[in-house]
Amino acid sequence: MSGEDQHRAAADVAARATDGFTSQYGDPPAGRWAAPGRVNLIGEHTDYNDGYVLPFALPQQTVVAATATGGPGWTVWSEQSGERIEFGPDDVTEPGTVKGWGAYVAGTVWALRDAGFDVPGARLAIASEVPLGAGLSSSAALESAVLTALADLGGLDLPVDDRPGLAQRAENAYVGIPSGIMDQSASIRCRAGHALFLDCRSLAVEQIPFDLDSAGLAVLVVDSQAPHQHVSGEYRARRAACEAGARALGVPALRDVAGDELDAALARLDDPMIRRRVRHVVTEDQRVLDTVDLLRAGRVREIGPLLTASHVSMRDDFEITVPEVDVAVEAALSAGAYGARMTGGGFGGCVLALVDADQADNVATEVTRAYAERGFTAPRSWLALPASGAHRLP
Ligand code: ADP
Ligand code: MG
Repeated sequence: MSGEDQHRAAADVAARATDGFTSQYGDPPAGRWAAPGRVNLIGEHTDYNDGYVLPFALPQQTVVAATATGGPGWTVWSEQSGERIEFGPDDVTEPGTVKGWGAYVAGTVWALRDAGFDVPGARLAIASEVPLGAGLSSSAALESAVLTALADLGGLDLPVDDRPGLAQRAENAYVGIPSGIMDQSASIRCRAGHALFLDCRSLAVEQIPFDLDSAGLAVLVVDSQAPHQHVSGEYRARRAACEAGARALGVPALRDVAGDELDAALARLDDPMIRRRVRHVVTEDQRVLDTVDLLRAGRVREIGPLLTASHVSMRDDFEITVPEVDVAVEAALSAGAYGARMTGGGFGGCVLALVDADQADNVATEVTRAYAERGFTAPRSWLALPASGAHRLP
């Protein structure tokens, strides 16, 4: 998608949320709030090891049109599900009462109330450009957009630093998905033209300039279309292996093993599987730090080999890739990408490739061709320009 197409798509999704609101509830919304999906440039499975991640926000957004009702209770319509749901205060006293997609919205209300905020009753209408379940974090976009809307509507005194943790609680505790803090941090805190360097232990963030345009570069995001299978079981197994590694090494988390201590640490681990998992996490943290250094120096093209090394590490050491993503990475690299890697938790999801802007179409075509040769479902792809985090729309 070109910059102009992205502007049009953003305007469209906002209009669909507004129109949806008006047709569902009979009058126009009091306001509209948007929160983006995200892609992680580098730093995979480092978040729950107290390490580093470097996501940036996508131009694709989820938009919530909303009005406070003055009464208790919430009514929510989503274009994606085509459904309208309702829940009241009794549904947000204990986590898990509302099921299905509404759990992400009810969970956000629950997390705010559980933190002591007086959440206004409201009517909401949701439209989204973030593909659901593709690994671009439509769930965090939904939570972040709802949280931002309710915070504004209720005039809640809720500093931006505290917002990602509340949105994460909605997902962890209410929906029941044990994800890290990256997705909600990205959706809420990212800035246009920047990647968000997040220390998952201290939660300190730093905006790192990520100026693709002036370097003549682009990030191509390819949805691998691989069917996600056994994802949550594999995720739990990776977390357990990392925790076992940290325990064996006597450190609070793998983040505490520095890059130059890796060989000595690996020599102390008996289990070859744990060794591979530890090597991925420790080298991946180092690659995030190296990427940040290069971006700070404006040497954007040179991050390519780090991206590719990250992929190789996920493929061989962390063992979370599938043929579709490996083929997309290989095809992108053969077509001239400076670097490419799977992004997201693994077993499918998306691949990102750093390419010359004028080669993006060509690289996408080559990936599609490689897929066709192997009989895989044709991939979808987009250009991702670093966009801004959650905000109120004019
Ligand atoms: P991802 O976050 O990578 O897109 P998840 O499985 O974490 O994938 O979240 C996808 C789920 O989030 C959907 O199945 C749906 O329940 C919910 N969701 C996200 N966006 C919307 C939306 N706009 N409308 C309704 N539900 C949504
Ligand atoms: Mg998600």
